[in-house]
Amino acid sequence: MFAQVRLMISGHFQKFYEKLLLDDDPEHRVRSALESLEDILPLDEVACDTKSAALSASLRREGDELFFAERESLVGLLQAWEYYCKAVALAPVDDASLPLAYANRSACLFHLKRYADCVADIDKALELSYPDSMRPNLLRRKVKCLKILGQSEDAEDASLEASQWLRCIDLRRDDKEFLERKIQVAKDVVELETASTAAASLPSMTANRKIPCASEAVEIRYNKKYGRHVVASRDIEIGEVVAREPPYALQLGSGCLYTHCSHCLARAWASLPCPGCVFAVYCSAGCRDEAWHAYHDVECPVRGYLLKLNVNDIAPFSLKVAILAIREAGGFRQLREQLRRIEQSEDPLKKSFSDGLYRSDLYQTFYHLESHEDKILLKELITILLNTALILYYVSTKTSFIEDLTNESSQDLCSSDDALLMGKLIAHHFMVIQMNDQEINRITSALENVTIMRGA
Ligand SMILES: [Zn+2]
Ligand SMILES: [Zn+2]
Repeated sequence: MFAQVRLMISGHFQKFYEKLLLDDDPEHRVRSALESLEDILPLDEVACDTKSAALSASLRREGDELFFAERESLVGLLQAWEYYCKAVALAPVDDASLPLAYANRSACLFHLKRYADCVADIDKALELSYPDSMRPNLLRRKVKCLKILGQSEDAEDASLEASQWLRCIDLRRDDKEFLERKIQVAKDVVELETASTAAASLPSMTANRKIPCASEAVEIRYNKKYGRHVVASRDIEIGEVVAREPPYALQLGSGCLYTHCSHCLARAWASLPCPGCVFAVYCSAGCRDEAWHAYHDVECPVRGYLLKLNVNDIAPFSLKVAILAIREAGGFRQLREQLRRIEQSEDPLKKSFSDGLYRSDLYQTFYHLESHEDKILLKELITILLNTALILYYVSTKTSFIEDLTNESSQDLCSSDDALLMGKLIAHHFMVIQMNDQEINRITSALENVTIMRGA
């Protein structure tokens, strides 16, 4: 909406509107939106949130206040935990605020009985520049967790390490003796009986030979009325599983950026922050690295601007799918060629099939989901195209992803085949996602319903 308002203020909105009416080629429309960028600029004056030691410290203090006042209540603990999570995400990677945020969150996790997560946070704080004088006490918490988790040998090692640090630090003798006794008492904690946590297995189904994600009880058909659709090929029992289909891509809702993993969407109790931005945390180093190589290297320097300009969650999702698609094909040129080949196919059903299989893990299938492009209102299309132009502007100025750009001007973007293809895809994804995404919500109370993710 920001871009549309700026364009209206500039007095050039009508010109853009008329261009769209006269030319319905998707790439030409993206070019018109890019040409309008000059009327929306100066975008280079927009600043996005970045890491800040002061902000991280302030969030940590808010977490501390809540933790000490409310630690007897689960709600209070969870609220304090959320403050600490944000303090972790905002702390610069080489600043003392990061280990302090990890350490304080570990206290919260201990009270939440998340003992393994508590140990993970303590280890991260100790690997960084956590103050020497505070190490014995932090290690004491680690001893307690390891004993509860039944890891007695590791608990003994942590206890020895705590005592060694205690000898090194400058502390009054009485205080040292008191802390040493507390470290020894920590070893008396009794191991917790662990309940069996076997993961529930999904019901089985006999896989369809042509549709690997569905059972043989269904088949895909196409007609003009319904487009591509599924029909039963036999009677289906009540409760029978007929499809188990992972989404092609997932997008975490912006309300959960600090509490859930941006890649696998699991709740990230002991989250690891993205070292570059303040908008992505991960449940593990594995998820962080996978996300970085798959799409986040491009998304990372761009996402903050989209959030700052209040572009909705579909914008970064559309961008993510475009990055995945271009990389899946092996580059811009290969993807253009692949789409051209598919478009030439006469059979609308075959457009979604690859080597005779309906593969929902391939972009080709996503691309051909119903978008109702022909029914979209022009005013909605204008918003989509201007958002697309904004995304292209930030991708071109903040990353080197668009291959055939020689400089960062918006005129260069208008003459870049790669930028126009990417813009066409992003605009198309907006429409596909609006029609096909599945929302997963977390209901925390009668009044709060948080969108955790979108999948398509
Ligand atoms: Zn994860
Ligand atoms: Zn990032």
